[in-house]
Amino acid sequence: MKIIGLTGGIGSGKSSIAKVLIELGYAVYNSDLAAKKAYDSPAIVDQVMAKFGTEVFDSKQQIQFKSLAQLVFSDPTKLAALNEIIHPFVKKDFEAWVAQQKGKLVFKEAAILFESRANLFCDAVISVTADEKIRAARIQKRDAATLQEIKTRMNRQLTDNERNKLADYVINNESELVIPQLLKVLELL
Ligand code: ATP
Repeated sequence: MKIIGLTGGIGSGKSSIAKVLIELGYAVYNSDLAAKKAYDSPAIVDQVMAKFGTEVFDSKQQIQFKSLAQLVFSDPTKLAALNEIIHPFVKKDFEAWVAQQKGKLVFKEAAILFESRANLFCDAVISVTADEKIRAARIQKRDAATLQEIKTRMNRQLTDNERNKLADYVINNESELVIPQLLKVLELL
């Protein structure tokens, strides 16, 4: 079985490509969803409390995600500390998922595949790319986010150029002709 990473910056369209892969019968693991699921685990919540204290919890002992985001995105060492809690959870969850799969190819969708070093566990990586302005316009439409918020989110990720250099295959998702590109990559894998 080959593990194929599927990555791309916000608004690049990697989730849309993941949907096509699922339609084609492939199994796709969503790392961003798994990272959110991590906070349902009491062991993870305990680690967040031990590392960041009551500052990021409300009076009902619930994590305040806005406070946590503000804290970690203002201090790279704190972000690294949170990643050290969340990334091992996702890695383990992914391994358990892979063990249940039967296909020759499985896909791991992750916005920060390279940043989290999850690429090291992939046999090949596909980068989905689109011009920053196009990506920003899509996100503005999808999330009703401001341009400034989108820029801040983009700045926390690799640029498309950096990501494309590290990837084995690049799919350009600026036009509608994305499916032929995907089918060609699938032939090569
Ligand atoms: P994020 O990391 O922010 O979740 P993503 O890379 O998974 O983003 P998608 O959610 O797939 O991106 O796409 C972002 C938005 O752009 C969606 O609303 C999607 O419908 C739209 N979109 C994706 N591809 C195209 C395309 N080729 N043409 C027009 N709109 C598109």
